Amino acid sequence: MTYIRKQWIAAIIWTTLSALIIPAAIVYGAETKHTTVRGRQSDVASFLKSYDVDTIFEHAQNTLEMYPEMSKVRILLYHNRNQPDTVRADYVYDNNTIYICIEDITEGVIAHELAHAISFHQYGGNRPDGETLAKWVDRMLNY
Ligand SMILES: [Zn+2]
Repeated sequence: MTYIRKQWIAAIIWTTLSALIIPAAIVYGAETKHTTVRGRQSDVASFLKSYDVDTIFEHAQNTLEMYPEMSKVRILLYHNRNQPDTVRADYVYDNNTIYICIEDITEGVIAHELAHAISFHQYGGNRPDGETLAKWVDRMLNY
């Protein structure tokens, strides 16, 4: 009896602690056709519900007319509300990752960064007008 009660107490403490601590720390990943999205589970879920990231990826491909061989683009969702000076979204070619601030996401931002990923892969990371191309893709986003 005492043993069972101790287990229950341990279970309750564990559940409470994990509810308080773990969700903020867990990095959850979900795969789509063209991307893997990582971040807090609730952020990943709402991101995938709000944005059809594969359609946006294909829009970027079709606008650029570039279809390079590439692995899935990693999209890392993070929170950055208190750091207004930092870049709200960025694409890093070395690890094929888009870093994107969850508070600032729009379809245009996603299209822009995916366009960077696609054009980098098309030209091996050496395309001087990459920024112009990416801006063009997010402005063409009216499908
Ligand atoms: Zn850019």
